[in-house]
Amino acid sequence: MTDTNLTLVCPSCQAINRVPAARLAASPRCGSCHAPLFDGHPLEVDDARFDRHVQHDQIPVLADLWAPWCGPCRAMTPAFINAAARLEPRYRLIKLNADTAPAILARYGVRSIPTLLLFQNGALKGQTAGAMPLEQIVQWAQGHAVASGLTPADRT
Ligand code: ZN
Repeated sequence: MTDTNLTLVCPSCQAINRVPAARLAASPRCGSCHAPLFDGHPLEVDDARFDRHVQHDQIPVLADLWAPWCGPCRAMTPAFINAAARLEPRYRLIKLNADTAPAILARYGVRSIPTLLLFQNGALKGQTAGAMPLEQIVQWAQGHAVASGLTPADRT
């Protein structure tokens, strides 16, 4: 473990926190509003919050672009929730309703949903379309990012 500080966006108040990497797993709370920084569930975001997390979270950000009318998206919802339980706090999992974010779809050339996007330090590291089961989501995310503050041996 290192004592590197990671910046993390608060899910509740959007404040940017600095959290020692070694304290990631110790249920860190927001220094501004004291809400937990992680609750083991994907975070529902709008396009502005999507950009804030992608740009400022110094852990990998896994985004699910979905829509309420999309059957495969709804089918993948439970797997994505379980993936959050598995991957947080080493990753931030977010969900963005594609219907409300045409600019983001255009930016990444998203033509079908569900699409998963994986970012690290603001850079797109992976993009894949189509529903996946839990194990495949977890493996795909781990294959496209090195979780912050962990050695490869710590990755599960
Ligand atoms: Zn906060």
